[in-house]
Amino acid sequence: MAARPAPLTFDVYVAPSVPTVSDDLPPGAEQRWWSPISATLIAGQRDAVLVDALMTVGQARDLADWVAAHGKRLTAVYITHGHGDHWFGLATILDRFPDARAFAVPAVIEQMRRGSTPEFLASFWKSRFPGQIPDDLALADPLPSNTIGLEGHDLVAVGLGHTDTDETTCLHVPAIGLVVAGDAAYNDVHLYLAESSPQGRRDWIAALDTIESLDPRAVIAGHKRADRDDDPRIIEETRRYIRDFDRIAETTNTARELYDQMLALHPDRVNPGALWGAARAWKR
Ligand SMILES: [Zn+2]
Repeated sequence: MAARPAPLTFDVYVAPSVPTVSDDLPPGAEQRWWSPISATLIAGQRDAVLVDALMTVGQARDLADWVAAHGKRLTAVYITHGHGDHWFGLATILDRFPDARAFAVPAVIEQMRRGSTPEFLASFWKSRFPGQIPDDLALADPLPSNTIGLEGHDLVAVGLGHTDTDETTCLHVPAIGLVVAGDAAYNDVHLYLAESSPQGRRDWIAALDTIESLDPRAVIAGHKRADRDDDPRIIEETRRYIRDFDRIAETTNTARELYDQMLALHPDRVNPGALWGAARAWKR
């Protein structure tokens, strides 16, 4: 008789907010910030799989130390979506853990490629984070059959379409009721809605319905307040935020009105600058 696989566990690392260079500041602010970013380690008895790889040189180095401290053999890194803040640290991780291979679904690899052309790196990322984006960027390999094995358990990539960008996914671990949501769910952090048209917002809500249908016991948001738990209630909280933005965007004329009214409904989320960015993307 085959031995029953050992149960899996998970642990979440959150890189704190870092300042970004921008001259478009929200009312009353003196600095723009990047939201805190998470990475998740799913571990068996000996092996482990990391989900997402953070952004800056310093974040990737700290993440590698944190992974090493778990004392497992890292076999794979899964990238949930193409935004650079979730994978620019990948080469550093692969360097530190030579047994690990990086995987993503083909549509995500295409987004990674488009989001890391020299032109886009210079205009978007390096201008916001001068001297902090790694020079060496590694892309992921296509994931065969949408599944990563971990000591007899399946970790399943689930396509979600548009959430805070196009062609996003989450990683579902049925054995422990875990969904690592990438940027499909936010946990007490203002959403990045700058890429989401009204249709994109409807798609995002449909993606949240898909995550909910997996009936998870824990949902890890790509951007989360570090000390908050990973309760699945963040699915509904994210959905409500999108619906609020949708409704207020319809009835306001300026970025400032949209920003102020959203902030009145969501005064305590981390990083109002992300809300300002969304308001500026859709209003003057
Ligand atoms: Zn993100």
